[in-house]
Amino acid sequence: MAHSDIICCISKRFEQARESGNLLFFPSTVTKLPALGVEFQIRLCPALQKKPPIPPPDLGAIEADAGIKSDRAEQREKERHDPFCPYDPHLHLGDLQDQDGAEYVVLFNKFSVVPNHFLLVTKEFQLQSSPLMPSDLVQAYSILIAGQKAGQRYFGFYNCGEQSGASQPHKHLQFIPIEDDGPPTERLARSAHLEMADKPFSLPQLPYAHHIFRFPSNLPSSPPAKIEHTLSTAFLNLLDLVFSTIRHATEYPPGKPSYNVILTIDHMHLIPRRTHEYTFPETGETLSVNALGYAGLLLVKSEEQLKAVQSAGVGNILEAVGLTSVHEIQLGEATTEVE
Ligand code: AMP
Repeated sequence: MAHSDIICCISKRFEQARESGNLLFFPSTVTKLPALGVEFQIRLCPALQKKPPIPPPDLGAIEADAGIKSDRAEQREKERHDPFCPYDPHLHLGDLQDQDGAEYVVLFNKFSVVPNHFLLVTKEFQLQSSPLMPSDLVQAYSILIAGQKAGQRYFGFYNCGEQSGASQPHKHLQFIPIEDDGPPTERLARSAHLEMADKPFSLPQLPYAHHIFRFPSNLPSSPPAKIEHTLSTAFLNLLDLVFSTIRHATEYPPGKPSYNVILTIDHMHLIPRRTHEYTFPETGETLSVNALGYAGLLLVKSEEQLKAVQSAGVGNILEAVGLTSVHEIQLGEATTEVE
């Protein structure tokens, strides 16, 4: 199936899945919160308190197994509930196949807070803690290109690892429509003036470690081999910086590193993660943060949580669940250039 075939019917299919009751949509309201030089969006969705519980994955056990023998981990995982295999056919938007044979299914998020939220899932079970492969990146970027051509812009994100905010261990990237001119931190990235266009950069106004690469402006119209090379090299360079940031961090939790990825037509952002949730000091309540938080879109379930976020400060929350930037130190360290 072509990426454009998936994009063209999303809105209609979303309504159908919602009307049939197979897709649960939770209405929400958005409060804009100026912070760090941009307007963050805090989405309040009280109905999420009533969301049917998803069986929590035993990510620690899966990771431990994966470290010993990946077949055993996969077998173990198949034995427990995997919502993407078998998937609900009412949520199925189509299948994609990469030129190297990698297969994917595209599914609606069953529990949507944002309309038209969909997932790109590997057809065969792969661990969510594994890095993005060239085929994953190419398929994700091809979806963004198809959206742009159809006048429906999306951005992609990937929550990788136990502390990234992921809830499902089967490898999946996610896509959300772009409102206005992009999610908030993408707007900041776009406004950055780069002295060296082919080098990863960080935004000085953000208090947490993050690494961004700007794609050449002609990338969407470039030949497939060029797209694959650019995406893969950018990802590897940014991942190197994530590992280097983690090496500089004190008391990083043991196990595979966790990080978030944000992918737009123009940029790739990687954000190393220390922990998946923020604990409010006053109440001990917790707030789960995934890649969307670092895109500038936080989700809260109550008015009290909204007030707690406002009083804690978005920058402090994102800094606490991420890592301290060591970008200045890293500037001296070499990275492979993207051709
Ligand atoms: P994450 O929490 O980042 O791992 O993303 C998992 C996504 O899958 C969330 O957006 C969930 O709402 C969604 N999800 C959970 N169960 C299902 C299901 N049965 N079908 C489709 N999406 C699901």
